[in-house]
Amino acid sequence: MAFPFSRTSLINRYTRAMIQTALVALVLTTASAEPPEEVVGGAIASIEAEQVMSDLSTLVDFGTRHTMSETLSDERGIGAARRWLAGEFERYAAEAGRDDVVVELESHTVVADGRRITEDTEVVNVVCTIPGSDPGAESRHYYIVAHYDSRVSGALDAESDSPGANDDGSGTVVCLAVARALMNVRLESTVVIMPVAGEEQGLYGSRRHAGIARDMGKDIRAILSNDTVGDPTGPGGREARSEIRVFSEGIPTAILAEQGRAPNAVRMIRSLSAESDSTSRQLARYLKEVADLHDLPVKPKLIYRPDRFLRGGDHTGFNESGFAAVRLTEVYENYDQQHQDVRTEDGKQFGDLIEFVDGDYIADVARLNTAGLIHLANAPSEPGNARMIVAELTNDTTLRWESSPESDVAGYEIVWRETTSPYWQHAQDVGNTTEGTIDLSKDNWFFGVRSYDADGYRSPVVFPIAARE
Ligand SMILES: [Zn+2]
Repeated sequence: MAFPFSRTSLINRYTRAMIQTALVALVLTTASAEPPEEVVGGAIASIEAEQVMSDLSTLVDFGTRHTMSETLSDERGIGAARRWLAGEFERYAAEAGRDDVVVELESHTVVADGRRITEDTEVVNVVCTIPGSDPGAESRHYYIVAHYDSRVSGALDAESDSPGANDDGSGTVVCLAVARALMNVRLESTVVIMPVAGEEQGLYGSRRHAGIARDMGKDIRAILSNDTVGDPTGPGGREARSEIRVFSEGIPTAILAEQGRAPNAVRMIRSLSAESDSTSRQLARYLKEVADLHDLPVKPKLIYRPDRFLRGGDHTGFNESGFAAVRLTEVYENYDQQHQDVRTEDGKQFGDLIEFVDGDYIADVARLNTAGLIHLANAPSEPGNARMIVAELTNDTTLRWESSPESDVAGYEIVWRETTSPYWQHAQDVGNTTEGTIDLSKDNWFFGVRSYDADGYRSPVVFPIAARE
């Protein structure tokens, strides 16, 4: 007579299950990482619209945040605003039990420029640095930037109420929400959260920070600039609740700034057909892939131009200094609210008031930034010196690269797309190697390569140069 399970076998099964559970736990702790689904899921679930609106209300209550406004008062003006922002970052770090987070007020004097700075003015960036936990990756920096200064109709009006709820209070409270979420996440690389000033007077805060970073050789891999991300509606019943524009430059402005070198660099871009494959554009595509992977409620609408037509923002200074930087902005702007004196005319309300922004939408934009930064900071570096081998004419395509330096690199993927496609369409895992061949012609497709780690984090794509070996 046989029972389906003897008592002994039940015990054995139980014990085996226990050992397996213990082994899985051991593997997870030694790898000391969780898959992106869990890490991103937990972080974005912690972001709350009510908190975002409460932060924005505090920010707006400083009356004006004009760059040349009052700095001594604790209730009104840009000085009070920046001290409050720094204090918030410090409080989040303390509440998360982190003594490694560094919060600084980075100040410099802009001398009167005869344009939008009429007297010598301290322009102060609030810089919150969350150091990476991996010694092999902590030197890599990923930024989120917004401008906390505001303005009304007159660019020099530092006295009138200037709530700047949307431009750019919305981006500033996204910075706060992202900071709260990321303090509780293990990040391999360093994340910098930086509300800047002087944007409305001529991009002073961001441009100076970017220039110094370039001169110091600081390893900044990506900048997400959030500017006017608070209102998913526009005039005339327009609405785009599930999208945010992500602007990215095609021809890098940094190469145009270098006198004499520009023609050669442009010639190189033309010969590689790399007009739409700058590092900023790869970053924009990356953000879209992350949003699609997690099916986030607000997804990037990629706009292939440096900014809104003929305009600029805080990402511009970073682009000028040679960094990959994109701008996030709501789909429809409302010019009755942006850069306007608070007033009513013929019963119509003008001004950048808090009643015109949407906390749920801002929270979703914060979720997109949070997810993007977690992926960027935890993925391995992009493969180095990626090149397409052109020693002889062939109908297939061989790429070579140098290994990413991080210890947790698990392999590489070659990606490709049709020459008319805005996004990478196909990916082939080629394993942990430094060369791969795809049976498709380089004449008919664009190719790139990216690295991945054991947890499933992928690096941005690198577009290869041409080489004989
Ligand atoms: Zn702005």
